[in-house]
Amino acid sequence: MAESKDYYEVLGVSKNATADDIKRAFRKLAKQYHPDAQHTEEDKKKAEVKFKEINEAYSVLSDENKRAQYDRFGSNFEQAGFNGAGYGNGFGGFDFSGFGNGMGVDIDLDDILGSVFGGGFGGFGSSKKQGPTKGADLRYNLNITFEEAAFGTNKDVNVSRQEKCDMCNGSGAKPGSKIITCDKCGGRGKIQITQNTIMGTFSSVKTCDKCGGEGKIVETPCEKCSGKGTIRRTRKLNINIPAGIDNGQAISLSGEGDVGKKGGATGDLFIVVNVAPHKIFTRRGFDILANFKIPYSKMVLGGTIKIPTLEGEIDFDIPEGTNAGTTFKVRDKGIQNIHGRGKGNLEFTVDVDIPKRLNDRQKEILAEFASTLGEEVSPKKKGFFR
Ligand SMILES: [Zn+2]
Ligand SMILES: [Zn+2]
Repeated sequence: MAESKDYYEVLGVSKNATADDIKRAFRKLAKQYHPDAQHTEEDKKKAEVKFKEINEAYSVLSDENKRAQYDRFGSNFEQAGFNGAGYGNGFGGFDFSGFGNGMGVDIDLDDILGSVFGGGFGGFGSSKKQGPTKGADLRYNLNITFEEAAFGTNKDVNVSRQEKCDMCNGSGAKPGSKIITCDKCGGRGKIQITQNTIMGTFSSVKTCDKCGGEGKIVETPCEKCSGKGTIRRTRKLNINIPAGIDNGQAISLSGEGDVGKKGGATGDLFIVVNVAPHKIFTRRGFDILANFKIPYSKMVLGGTIKIPTLEGEIDFDIPEGTNAGTTFKVRDKGIQNIHGRGKGNLEFTVDVDIPKRLNDRQKEILAEFASTLGEEVSPKKKGFFR
């Protein structure tokens, strides 16, 4: 499986490309990188890799649901280190090994495209019924404070998800009612269709739309779930937020998403955290940054100042002759490393806190001080502007 590839880039289409655009781009590339269109062994190897990429991208972008999921989750998963998580199903389903090796030299591109556009990857010519499907992965956006992210917390969240209907136990049939064979596909779950396209005519096998590929139809649907076998329920879940989590990162809860169909695995739940900004601190990795104003005299003479940290005030010694813009570092006063090893630092930059109103006495002293440095000072007379 390719890591964090931009599928739109792979197919050379824009993010808002239509289904037709995507199909067209895929056909063009599939022709170009088809193994049989290559002249040397080396080209063939390169083309195979590319061909797989193209197929992977197309398998996601051509499927409305997978595309929506990819658009929604793509970047967040990368940030959180969940590369590819959540759509393990859709990827890698296209078996390339049959091409160019076992099937002989003369492969008709329409066969390949037929299998791609038809009943799903690897399903060409097969009358296999639709198997179990994994339930959808869900995303929940959770707002937390800066401190909660720094120290970790517990939160109750209400998640609305599809669960197995308890009345029919997921079968969709009213208890006691019969399940009959689908008349459209004769119980095969698949129907053969012939399509005329710019690439020529080819036939493919599609999932039966009447029975959804099951080959069977429920005679009397379950009243509680209207025959779907699933019902929407809201569950309260207690989420443990680890110390050190950052804005945009996600916590994955395996098996807490939508229930699967026909015994398929349950989807996962991703809690994506949105961390509110702090009044004083900003964050850089596990370090926290701040700007503090220090009295002029403290910067000149040096001395102890009180500075805020996430764990309360601490004393800090400012050296004599500190310039505005100097940055100091306090070790281990940052944020807990989420991977469990140590803490970040607090870094703060100092600025001069220039007093706005001095009385005459204070001005006199300052002027006298300045004169000792050889500076010429003529303080404004009080009341000049009155
Ligand atoms: Zn039911
Ligand atoms: Zn059917």
